[in-house]
Amino acid sequence: MSKEIISALKILKKLWKNPGAMEIGNPYQNVVGVLLSARTRDEQVLKLMPGFFKAFPTPVELSKASVEKIESRINTIGMFRQKAKHLKSMATDIVEKFDGKVPQTMEELVTLAGVGRKTASVVLVASFGTPAIAVDTHVYRVTNRLGWVKTKTPEKTEEALLALVPDKWKKTVNQVFVKHGRYVCIRKPRCWACPVRDVCAFKEKNLEALSNAEEIVADIERREEIIEALRHNAI
Ligand code: SF4
Repeated sequence: MSKEIISALKILKKLWKNPGAMEIGNPYQNVVGVLLSARTRDEQVLKLMPGFFKAFPTPVELSKASVEKIESRINTIGMFRQKAKHLKSMATDIVEKFDGKVPQTMEELVTLAGVGRKTASVVLVASFGTPAIAVDTHVYRVTNRLGWVKTKTPEKTEEALLALVPDKWKKTVNQVFVKHGRYVCIRKPRCWACPVRDVCAFKEKNLEALSNAEEIVADIERREEIIEALRHNAI
């Protein structure tokens, strides 16, 4: 099985070669980015990053800021009030419990306010090169459709994938499936545009390309280019 998994990941990595949208800089910047990106379009988060990090360049400044001031910097995105509170608490934890440095283990990261296993896994991979698999709704859906796992929740999916995917390839799982799930393996999947359809176990494949297929593909490429440009200018 791991041979087939590696082969599919290699194919998908050619299609989705860009890093995760929130892999923007140092561990502090990455953890802030992932926290802000919950249920929010990457573009919206990336656009506010330069102003945010100018105002709060390190966890110390963020921990000292009022919640209202943090809100004013992120009020263009969803759940900004809750996220502002989490950001302040998270920064305070980093300063008080971890000497101002983002911790480097899953056990410690999940003690930070607003940080669950998914956020922690992204930070472990992006900031510290530690093998981990961040499972969001896309990773959960696509890996189940492919037949790699048979799970009912993202938590169980993470557990199953951690056991299934070799360490060297763990970081690639989130990188490729978030984008694949967002653009190709959507609710009504675009299997006609999927390079791993021959090894996919999903029974209800949608192989009929739409009349505007070229337009759809061009649109996906355009959106990826925009995100990548914003990511490079985020800090
Ligand atoms: S073949 Fe279809 S269902 Fe399978 S991974 Fe590709 S897009 Fe998803």
